[in-house]
Amino acid sequence: MEGLLRTREEEGRLSGILNGVDDAIWSPAHDALLSHPYARETLVNKAHNKRQLQISMGLSVGEKIPVFAIVSRLTHQKGLDLVLEAVPELLEHGAQLVVLGAGDADLQEWFLAAAAEYPGQVGVLIGYHEAFSHRIIGGADVIMVPSRFEPCGLTQLYGLKYGTLPLVRHTGGFADTVADCSLENLADGLATGFSFSDCNVGALSRAIRRVFVLWSRPTLWRYVQRQAMAMDFSWRVAAQAYRALYQRL
Ligand code: ADP
Repeated sequence: MEGLLRTREEEGRLSGILNGVDDAIWSPAHDALLSHPYARETLVNKAHNKRQLQISMGLSVGEKIPVFAIVSRLTHQKGLDLVLEAVPELLEHGAQLVVLGAGDADLQEWFLAAAAEYPGQVGVLIGYHEAFSHRIIGGADVIMVPSRFEPCGLTQLYGLKYGTLPLVRHTGGFADTVADCSLENLADGLATGFSFSDCNVGALSRAIRRVFVLWSRPTLWRYVQRQAMAMDFSWRVAAQAYRALYQRL
């Protein structure tokens, strides 16, 4: 559709409006599904949710261990085969991986095999569990969404809101919502996550290495978390954009 839509865009007939987050349901300060709700000023409480998550997934418990998470349909679109290739590197750096998802039989099997191969470091739950998705996004440090394409995406928006830094591919809605931790964005106070362009495991690995560099600087990490949590992708913003568009029409 892209070619067709682009011509409409050139004619000034195409408008894009981002998804909205329902913050009655997704808000770390009022999330009854979290054992310890937290806000930008009380980010220290996020550690309790991380501990709970590590325990519930059978992982070694430690605040200093970076926890990467996936909450996703397990399909080719979502680029999770790249994550599977990067698992050894993640673990070499001392990280953990938590996966919640359901979908393609191959991907399910491969993630379960990774959990069996790396007990205590990789935890996998196959299925669709709304409540558990809140606990993962509340407890993890990084939420990975390396999609091949993504019209908008909600998962990275939840990650931002919960100070769980999104690691995304620079495509579609991710390009509109996640500001990479480049030196420029860090200096300008804009950085909210990590993004990479090429759809291959080398590019993902380089992004993962940049996660570890930031992780080794806890003050800077916290600063980026606060930046991410300050972003407003609520329905208030989306609804205003719809209203403005309808009025213009
Ligand atoms: P898509 O619509 O392409 O699946 P989005 O990121 O736009 O991707 O929305 C997916 C939503 O479904 C997110 O809210 C995500 O948290 C949720 N989700 C996906 N898989 C699961 C799962 N297994 N359990 C709970 N929630 C899930």
